[in-house]
Amino acid sequence: MAETNLILLGPPGAGKGTQAERLQADFALAHISTGDMLRAQVAQGTELGAEAQKFMNAGELVPDEVILGMIAQRISEQDAQDGFLLDGFPRNVEQADALAAMLVDGQRRLTAALLIEVSDDEVVRRLAGRRVCMKSGHVYHVEFDPPKHEDVCDQDGSRLIQREDDREETIRRRLEVYRRQTAPLIDYYEDAGVLRRFDGRRNPNEVHNHIRATVATLRMEDKL
Ligand SMILES: [Zn+2]
Repeated sequence: MAETNLILLGPPGAGKGTQAERLQADFALAHISTGDMLRAQVAQGTELGAEAQKFMNAGELVPDEVILGMIAQRISEQDAQDGFLLDGFPRNVEQADALAAMLVDGQRRLTAALLIEVSDDEVVRRLAGRRVCMKSGHVYHVEFDPPKHEDVCDQDGSRLIQREDDREETIRRRLEVYRRQTAPLIDYYEDAGVLRRFDGRRNPNEVHNHIRATVATLRMEDKL
């Protein structure tokens, strides 16, 4: 069977992580999240991690050269030979060109770029409402999953805080960066004929069903 190589696009808070996990299970793809790769570097205290942390703290994106080497290595690994799902990469047209060159080198091709569309205000509503308990990191949402007592963890009674990453001004800044750098990718992949759009305002199950059906169809077409 031909490999299934996918890119997942959409703003922060669109639910890409959830969809990626499900698609990975549906189609046995290597799920490659630049966020996870970077967080692992930060947690391990590597030089690359320290470098990346500075940009992430400022709500900025990590520079291309830090990312590209990691991706090239990762998609060549054994578990990615039948297909991969890129989540958080590419983030701009330069990265997309670099990815295209990597794929040509490996005589591979992109199956589809999946775009989950959500408005800025909806992203803010989802992310700025998150509260995390200081003791154990239990997660709540002021609107969708509130604690019984305001700002107190149901499970251990510790205080709930809003993380720096979840503050509205940080989110708006990330969205600005997203619109400026990533939105051109939508045209890029549309021109390449591989863009597929999904309505991210729907619930995660509906979004998943729609994406899964689309990818299944593309795989069948590949086999013909
Ligand atoms: Zn707690």
